[in-house]
Amino acid sequence: NVSSHDLKVLDHKHHLHPFTDHGALGVDERRVIAKADGVWLWDSDGNRILDGMAGLWCVNAGHGRQEIVEAVRAQMSELSYYNTFFKTSHPPVIELSEMLAGLTPDHINMVMYGSSGSDANDTILRLVRTYWALQGQPDKKVVISRKNAYHGSTMAGASLGGMGPMHSQGGLPIPGIHHIDQPYWFGEGMMTDMNEDEFGLWAARELERAIEEIGEENVAAFIAEPIQGAGGVIVPPSTYWPEVKRILESRNILFIADEVICGFGRTGEWFGSGYYDLKPDLMTIAKGLTSGYLPLGGVLVSDEIAEVLHRENVEFFHGYTYASHPACCAAAIANLTILKREGLVERVRDQIGPYFQKQWKALESHPMVGQARMVGLFGALELVPDENDLKKRFANEGKVGTITRDHSFSNGLVMRAVRDSMIISPPLSISEEEVDLLIASTRKTLDDAWNDVRKQG
Ligand code: PLP
Repeated sequence: NVSSHDLKVLDHKHHLHPFTDHGALGVDERRVIAKADGVWLWDSDGNRILDGMAGLWCVNAGHGRQEIVEAVRAQMSELSYYNTFFKTSHPPVIELSEMLAGLTPDHINMVMYGSSGSDANDTILRLVRTYWALQGQPDKKVVISRKNAYHGSTMAGASLGGMGPMHSQGGLPIPGIHHIDQPYWFGEGMMTDMNEDEFGLWAARELERAIEEIGEENVAAFIAEPIQGAGGVIVPPSTYWPEVKRILESRNILFIADEVICGFGRTGEWFGSGYYDLKPDLMTIAKGLTSGYLPLGGVLVSDEIAEVLHRENVEFFHGYTYASHPACCAAAIANLTILKREGLVERVRDQIGPYFQKQWKALESHPMVGQARMVGLFGALELVPDENDLKKRFANEGKVGTITRDHSFSNGLVMRAVRDSMIISPPLSISEEEVDLLIASTRKTLDDAWNDVRKQG
């Protein structure tokens, strides 16, 4: 029976938060989330808040699903831990792997597990280099990624990612990672003399230019999210992916789709690569795999790569103690069963997605919104100081985003700020009524933030 204030004091005293400026975080500014159900969170002060970010883009099935809780409880009492190192396996990992093979494209039928998206991307880096070495091409080591990408927080994940502040800490990236431009029309393309289609082609051809510069014989893979999430929900121009596909088809390099956010229904397809009709050789997954109920991630591997790993006398010296943890696999099975049984992915594509997108787009009438974009249930609002000049940006990048995010919380809605854009990614189970409430909170939030901006000149 610790009071809400005392919880915050203890949090302040003992807890180092990820991605947090602790010096700027006062004791009472903290939010202690105590309970959740569906799309709703309750904090320790009793406020009800709509979880417009599905936690960290992960609670796809919604909070409080007792079916998942029960499946985990049952698994814990049957076999609470075993691993799949060497020659062992266990029923939930076998069942889950078969389930995943049924959801992935036909040419992908194997999965190697970990506990998160970050470790999945670590595995990927080791795996693609090992694959090329086994193919007699050990020089194929470089992985091409994109600026502003987020692929996790481990050394390999943060190196594959293209976030400046992460690189400047700890001397990253590690060698052998090359970053090219991202297809960010509103933030970058619009400032050039290209139109959106031309910019999409230009950004795609950055890949071709990089391959030529590095030498195809040295390039192992290209990694990308179908839609960049933490970078700001960067929906590429329609010319981008077809051109990347053309480039990849004519080159002997692997394509890795990071599906950590895009996977499991976020775009209205099971995978973001399905939304763009891409054919990845490898996919990394986490988050929506268990809807965040327990930590589980993995690498989905094409038949062609699996065949090389199955050759005689080949061993991939890699694995984590908690990879394919039975309780996490049980959570994933129960979660995927819910997504399938309730048709939540198709619902995003055909019903709740279009319903939400229409109202989201209408937010462009607000004087502070330069662009409102959304695919599936995955959207962003670009905040601008002048609706008549969309190339203008706020001075002191990120400040208005932060102000808006704080108003959003006060208005009972979790949105995330990326620079001066607001991000939304709610549970796929959100109802039409809840979408209406979310939009009403967003409008109020935009009005509140706009008042502040005008007051401050
Ligand atoms: N890849 C992408 C695209 C992500 O968005 C994230 C996390 O947000 C990760 C990888 C890292 O996943 P995790 O936080 O589970 O390590």
